[in-house]
Amino acid sequence: MLTLINPADESSFGKLEEDTAGTVAEKVQRATEAQRKWALTPLEKRLQVLTRFNEALSHERERLARTLTQETGKPITQARNEVSATVERVRYFIDNAARALEPETVVAEGDTRERITHEPLGVVANISAWNYPYFVGTNVFVPALLMGNAVLYKPSEFAVLTGDHIAALLTQAGLPPDVFTVVSGGGAVGEALLSHPLAGVFFTGSYGTGLKVAAAAAPGLMKVQLELGGKDPVYVCEDVDVTKAAASLADGAFYNTGQSCCAVERIYVHHSIAKSFIARFVDTVRSFVVGDPTDESTYIGPLTRAAQLTVLDAQVRDAVAKGAQLQCGGTRLTRKGFYFAPTVLTDTTHAMQVMRDESFGPIIGLQSVQGDEEAVALMNDTAYGLTAGVFCGHETRAARILAQVNAGSAYWNCCDRVSPRLPWTGRKHSGMGSTLSMVGIRTFTQPKAWHLRNPG
Ligand code: NDP
Repeated sequence: MLTLINPADESSFGKLEEDTAGTVAEKVQRATEAQRKWALTPLEKRLQVLTRFNEALSHERERLARTLTQETGKPITQARNEVSATVERVRYFIDNAARALEPETVVAEGDTRERITHEPLGVVANISAWNYPYFVGTNVFVPALLMGNAVLYKPSEFAVLTGDHIAALLTQAGLPPDVFTVVSGGGAVGEALLSHPLAGVFFTGSYGTGLKVAAAAAPGLMKVQLELGGKDPVYVCEDVDVTKAAASLADGAFYNTGQSCCAVERIYVHHSIAKSFIARFVDTVRSFVVGDPTDESTYIGPLTRAAQLTVLDAQVRDAVAKGAQLQCGGTRLTRKGFYFAPTVLTDTTHAMQVMRDESFGPIIGLQSVQGDEEAVALMNDTAYGLTAGVFCGHETRAARILAQVNAGSAYWNCCDRVSPRLPWTGRKHSGMGSTLSMVGIRTFTQPKAWHLRNPG
């Protein structure tokens, strides 16, 4: 039985039955039968279902956002933003599904033709995280369904009601039974799911769990795609507008209470502007409204998971013990709920956990650098490779720096940004494979090679 806890006040607001190994097996069986029919359903019909689902998302935005806030502590304005931006994302998938499935004739010579068609994978598992459950869920299940797959969706145990809302909206939109099925429970239920011979597993979560998922998928040679964590760096050059850069980067670090896979987690500042940049940055962070996530003015809410408070506390202690300066925050708030004060540490070094381990909370380390070469070396000094950014006046300089950084996304004068038109892809411990863009739609298909020769 899962107990649902509101992170803003630690109250329990319900209990939910967990799946068992037996119910998971039944769900896999039913999904396998449903997928065969769904794959034969004309694309036009599949598009209609997902279009109705998207209309419902838009129509029900307020109700969905309120549940999200209750489950995860996400500030209500940011919960609404997530649902709205998800609608845009789903529209991209709908608009591009036909293009992704288009067969291609690559050779037509004499009697011989060679063609490529794109077939669905089959039944896939979508194991999701809680920090942006609409984004990371729809990145997978919408293109998967459009391409003709069935989906077994395991929401995080911190966002189960959101998973149920998604399933209800898909049913209302006319999705046939068992094509999309919620599997409820914690890690053990995830393991039970992956013990079945599925066609693929599309996972969003931490590096540690990603390793377990990849190991579980290996014996069956299941397709594995992993969207994992990050320790995303940004380098601020000497020719920026300090006020603008500080405002943009404070938002990139603290939005969603810092619980974003692509949150800015490390900032390197050119030494010549370090003092003025830090002053503006700290002023901006001090101005953030921390409080009840249902309040319209709140920018920073509680953390979703109580366990992360201990991680953040340890990172602050470690940094201060090794010589970092605590500019603001640094402790848990003395109120009910999983609140951590927005924290800025300066004079950090790579000997400190805060510059090496994923923080996933409202905390950031800033370090002064001598120039581009040192910045590149420090940006690459990480096990992760999700995103990296440069704030500077000239695109050629930013491009030269970012070409040397081993990360899946490169930002010039922006950060913490995801576009449905671009692949979302991590390197090193940030994962493998891509969602979003045409690459992220096609990933839910497998090619078939046709060798065709006319008779006679
Ligand atoms: P976890 O790795 O703890 O969990 C992810 C999912 O895996 C949850 O649904 C979890 O279930 C499930 N799970 C746990 N153990 C197993 C197992 N043994 N087998 C199968 N499934 C299992 O991550 P979080 O939910 O805490 O998400 C935060 C992490 O996700 C951060 O590292 C963040 O950076 C990353 N992330 C990456 C994104 C990207 O695009 N690269 C996007 C969003 C987040 P349960 O929660 O019920 O235990």
